[in-house]
Amino acid sequence: MSQTDRTPPPPDPLPVAVLDAHTHLDMLGGDPLAAIAAAGAVGVTRLVQVGVDVDSSRWSAALAAAQPAVLATVAVHPNEAPRLADLDEALRAIEGLARQPRVRGVGETGLDTFRTGEAGRAAQERSFRAHIQIAKDTGKALVIHDRDAHADILRVLDGEGAPDTVVLHCFSGDESFAVECVKRGYVLSFAGTVTFKNAQNLRDAVQVTPVEQILVETDAPYLTPMPYRGRPNAPHLIPLTVRALAHTKGVDLDELCAGISATGERVFGSWAG
Ligand SMILES: [Zn+2]
Repeated sequence: MSQTDRTPPPPDPLPVAVLDAHTHLDMLGGDPLAAIAAAGAVGVTRLVQVGVDVDSSRWSAALAAAQPAVLATVAVHPNEAPRLADLDEALRAIEGLARQPRVRGVGETGLDTFRTGEAGRAAQERSFRAHIQIAKDTGKALVIHDRDAHADILRVLDGEGAPDTVVLHCFSGDESFAVECVKRGYVLSFAGTVTFKNAQNLRDAVQVTPVEQILVETDAPYLTPMPYRGRPNAPHLIPLTVRALAHTKGVDLDELCAGISATGERVFGSWAG
């Protein structure tokens, strides 16, 4: 079976339209336009397509320019940065793309001490600092990848001075890290991982995060929510994660959807414009 054949079926539609704040349509293995349509059919009417290197960032920017339901972010991924022969050249290309009108974020950038070893750390942090500067120069949101690096993420952001808008993609911290991020005005984007049985730390983080600072994402094709963990993810599965968030926070589903939608437009700007 192909990857798309194994993609789980659509859940019940949401009562109020939301967005998928972080997705990789280029990695799904099927027709991106079909994935966008399937998402729209369950109330996921807007998507943020995320680049991870120069090529995928170009692809993301072009898709956003052509599709009203899509905005893009552009970056060199923190695990990619140490592998590049010429990081500066890549950063210049990212900066150019970041100035495009339907590119609304710089990311995913950040730190990953899980997959990048000691030897790559300096290049990774240099790349992160450069992306922070690009976000500030272009006035776009900074979209952060943080894997096993919570304290270092805050150290670098506090040191550089954070851009006006910061999103922690696939928030993976606990309650105390969430409190630190909320205090700084950052937006926490929760993925399918909040539905995992062993993820009480994430549900504790959700509890202390105001609705105005919550986004929801798939990170498709990764991090498929329960009950489909292990199968390929897609933007049309967002309703599973939104329902889990509403249950965890004890808030009305309509209210949470409206809040997430408003936060998405505050962070990335209007999809219509
Ligand atoms: Zn991602």
